Amino acid sequence: MNHRRRFLSLAAATLCTSATSTLLSSCQSTETNKNININFNKQYQWRMVTTWPPKFPVLGEGLEMMAKWIETASAGRMQIKIYGAGELIPALECFDAVSQGAAQIASGVSYYWAGKTAAAQFFAAIPFGMNAQQMNAWVINGGGLQLWEELYAPFNLVPIPGGNTGVQMGGWFRKELNSAEDLKGLKMRIPGLGGKALAKAGGTAVLTPGNELYTNLERGVIDAAEWIGPYHDYVMGFYNVAKYYYYPGWHEPGPILEIFCNKKQLEALPKDLQEIIRTAIYRLSIWTLGEFEAKNNLYLKKMIKEEGVQLRQYPNDVLEVLRKGTQETINEMVEKDSTSQKIYTAYQKFQKDIQEWSEVSEKVYYSAIQKKNT
Ligand code: CA
Repeated sequence: MNHRRRFLSLAAATLCTSATSTLLSSCQSTETNKNININFNKQYQWRMVTTWPPKFPVLGEGLEMMAKWIETASAGRMQIKIYGAGELIPALECFDAVSQGAAQIASGVSYYWAGKTAAAQFFAAIPFGMNAQQMNAWVINGGGLQLWEELYAPFNLVPIPGGNTGVQMGGWFRKELNSAEDLKGLKMRIPGLGGKALAKAGGTAVLTPGNELYTNLERGVIDAAEWIGPYHDYVMGFYNVAKYYYYPGWHEPGPILEIFCNKKQLEALPKDLQEIIRTAIYRLSIWTLGEFEAKNNLYLKKMIKEEGVQLRQYPNDVLEVLRKGTQETINEMVEKDSTSQKIYTAYQKFQKDIQEWSEVSEKVYYSAIQKKNT
């Protein structure tokens, strides 16, 4: 009966020329005049693997919502079961699992796959680079996505921007960081290009997945750790094991959260299901950034008031050393990899252009607001 109801509701929106008892209908849309063939008996079940701990706030939570949107919009034909990190495979095996078809879709951040293809990092975040709004503009509207698709195609993967955390926090430190000298010997969980910049400054970067972070910081396996921002850092409980909370998140000014699909299996789906999946991911993308922005300030205040967290700004000389380390790292990357060079050139051009616009839009606006409030 459910199938019949679904069929009748579709028929109300389209002019159907035939319907059979198997519910395979050939309908002619009154608006597009194109044939649509939908077999409501055919169900598709995908497995989604993620780099996040199971049911993780915002990230895992958003994916569960996305799966429901997709199921509803497809009248139950497309179902996606979400697995948190470690439930089906370890976090850092998502890329291979989806590439090879063991799972059909995954959620992560592209800097995790630097070992597969170095240029992947440019689609997550570049330290001291573009913020969330600018990254979205580059990837979605400025040609970035096309470059990203080209980069992932040889791995049989299709990337789709699936959210953004906004500017992150600089991380949790067990001891205060007073000058660039304190970076020497510092063992910090910090992924991507930021990690390489830290190494240039004399520290050691460790790429620890989220589900092992708290324990490593608690046991002193690492001296410092960056994760995301106040809301998630509160949920992870880092304030129990490190009291100094640094800003700004120089290393991740607006990282894109990626979703990627197995290319062959995505393209084998009926066209309407492909569109439903893409549309749901873009909805997730908007929801995710909004959720981060809505929650972060509340939890920052809560940690300072209730947990005695000490907020600290990175000293200028620390930021300068890290900025220098970032540029050296990128220069080395683009010198030895023509793909990285091509993508970084496009990134740089877009950043330069948008920065000029930002000078007379965002930057001036924030200053104007500050003046009004003081
Ligand atoms: Ca982070």
